[in-house]
Amino acid sequence: MDIVTTPDPRLRQKCRKVNKITAETLDIIAKMREASLEWEKAHPFELSAAMAAPQLGFDRRIIIIRDDLEDKKNTNFTALIDPEIIKAEGKPAKDYEGCLSVPAIYGLVERPTKVKVKALLEDGTPVRVKAEDSLARTLLHEIDHLDGVLFIDHIKGQKDAFFKMNDKGELDPVDYDTEIKDNHNLWGDDEA
Ligand SMILES: [Zn+2]
Repeated sequence: MDIVTTPDPRLRQKCRKVNKITAETLDIIAKMREASLEWEKAHPFELSAAMAAPQLGFDRRIIIIRDDLEDKKNTNFTALIDPEIIKAEGKPAKDYEGCLSVPAIYGLVERPTKVKVKALLEDGTPVRVKAEDSLARTLLHEIDHLDGVLFIDHIKGQKDAFFKMNDKGELDPVDYDTEIKDNHNLWGDDEA
C-alpha cells in the first residue's frame, strides 16, 4: 500500500463515518497496521506512532494508534473508529510533529495537552479515552486527518516552526521563506 502524500487532494477531504463495522472496515485497519510497520522499516530513526485512513486513500473515519509510543518492539496498534473529540483542554504546549503524508518535514506545533475522545473499538465496543501529552497530541493529529487537516496547517506562516531530519536523525531548522512558503508539494497550488 502506498502512503498518500501532500499535495494529494485525498488528504484534504472530510472523511465519512463508518457507523457499522464490516469486513471492509477490518480490512482497512489491517492494511493501515501493515503500512505503518512497513514505513517504519524504511525510517530507522523514527517510530510509526499512528495513521489515519485517508493516508492510505480510504475515505473513512478510522485511526490507529501505537500501543506504546516509545517502544518500537511493541508493534501493536489500537484502532479507533469514528473518533470524536469530546473535550480538548490544558495549557497548550509545543512539540515536534511529523507525518507519513508530509515527507521529510517536521514542525513545532502548539496543541492542547489533554483530550477526551470517544470512539468505537474494532469489535464495536464504545470507548472513552482520556489522554495527555504525547498521546493527546497524537490523537489530535490523527483526528485532524479525518477532517482534511494536516499539522503544517497549524504552523503556516510561522518562520521558526519547520524542520528537516538530517542523516543522524536530528532535526535541523528549515528556512521558511526559501524552502517552505512557496513549496507547492506541501499545500498544493491553490494555497501556496
Ligand atoms: Zn499525519
